[in-house]
Amino acid sequence: MTALTKPVRTRVAPSPTGDPHVGTAYIALFNLCYARQHGGQFILRIEDTDQVRSTPESEQQILASLKWLGLNWDEGPDVGGPHAPYRQSERSDIYKQHANVLLEKGHAFHCFCTSERLDKLREEQMENKAALGYDGHCMGLGAAEVQQRLAAGEHAVIRMKVPREGTCEVNDLLRGTIAIDWKEVDMQVLMKADGLPTYHLANVVDDHLMEITHVLRGEEWISSAPKHKLLYEYFGWDMPQLCHMPLLRNPDKSKLSKRKNPTSITYYERMGYLPEALLNYLGRMGWSMPDEREQFSLAEMIADFDVSRVSLGGPIFDVEKLGWLNGQWLKSLSPEQFVAAFQRWITPEYMARVASQIQTRVQTLSEAVDKAGFFFAGKVALSADSFAHKNLSAEQIKGLLQLALWELEALRHWDHAHISELLQRLSGALGIKLRDFMAPFFVSMAGSPSAPPVMEAMAIMGPDMTRARLREALTVLGGVSKKEGKELEKQLAAFRRGESLVAVE
Ligand code: GLU
Repeated sequence: MTALTKPVRTRVAPSPTGDPHVGTAYIALFNLCYARQHGGQFILRIEDTDQVRSTPESEQQILASLKWLGLNWDEGPDVGGPHAPYRQSERSDIYKQHANVLLEKGHAFHCFCTSERLDKLREEQMENKAALGYDGHCMGLGAAEVQQRLAAGEHAVIRMKVPREGTCEVNDLLRGTIAIDWKEVDMQVLMKADGLPTYHLANVVDDHLMEITHVLRGEEWISSAPKHKLLYEYFGWDMPQLCHMPLLRNPDKSKLSKRKNPTSITYYERMGYLPEALLNYLGRMGWSMPDEREQFSLAEMIADFDVSRVSLGGPIFDVEKLGWLNGQWLKSLSPEQFVAAFQRWITPEYMARVASQIQTRVQTLSEAVDKAGFFFAGKVALSADSFAHKNLSAEQIKGLLQLALWELEALRHWDHAHISELLQRLSGALGIKLRDFMAPFFVSMAGSPSAPPVMEAMAIMGPDMTRARLREALTVLGGVSKKEGKELEKQLAAFRRGESLVAVE
């Protein structure tokens, strides 16, 4: 079969290492549109080769969030398909076999270098301002020596050979030919010492075996494209057509990050954005309808989709514009549809978790509305005065909220136990009684110092909503100046080293 007659197959390949990111939905949307518009199929594959950072909870949330948005896949870990399994952690043998093929063909080699040697190499390269990367130290080892060292139980990774001279040309659907010098391309590790593949090997092998014809992915992967192209050549396979999409950006043009903007799809769900509106907004990121209209459905986007209308300037993810568009969507609903949307938003699961926090704290159901309001509100009304506390200065309050916010941005397991452990440790390090320390959190989250248990509320409301409220509290308190920020960053580093933050007079 020639490339032209192959049915179009695209995929989204998220790594389940955190909250479901709007960037994942954006890439999924464009892959879905591309496939549907060509009458092809759209696949979801879970790339969980990073065993340390991947979690089943994250995978489950990613699937749920993409489904909530209405991005449905034809094959995937939950629905199966002819190329199952669709979770890379279940495909280890396949990668092993393929790594062996590359070894046999002489395109890859075992590398026994220790991390000390690699660190030293890197330091030297940096000192000499030379190109960074592996120097080929183990490339020339004889087969007998390799076998002997492996048999002796020495740890080894498998690296791919990469030419040191010349230029690699990669074709991109939006960018044309991208030229990258081979000397900028590292001899990538393909198999780690634990026998698991790296992203590069698993991604190429799976795209081939799953018959993917077009890969639409974020532009941060451009620098990996030469390695991938070489792997396709080494295996003797056709390479899918690559298309690197512009990255979503914060209004200040930096890469969209949870430090500046809520990035989790679940946050937008909880805030009461309609899935149709969020999807519409993601579609507007760098792409426009032929008639330039702002509001359109997924079906309309698929019908009119033309990848060549994607513009390469970094699309700005602007929450205010999203809010405006969501308002348009809400206005365009019939009264019945509006009621239905409202009812869908208060999901039974969320309602049950909220109810568990207030049931024992009310005398009438009408009181529950007031008590539970902050769980549903997007923002709570705050003023600097609401934070006033007899044992804490305004400076202390800002400091502890900022330190907590930074630590909560880095928290991997979002549940009551981990939140509580972190906040207790921080209050201990600051030498502030937990009761006093927690007061500003009650105000930030619920608008009042007397609210249901706040750590449980944070767990229920989720990381992005919690962070958004803490960020808002800091703004209301006048914000953290550059100078204060620098001082707090030092404190953060000391806290992470396990040191006490109690000022020594
Ligand atoms: N697992 C990669 C990610 O999380 C997929 C990149 C690709 O599409 O090749 O973005």
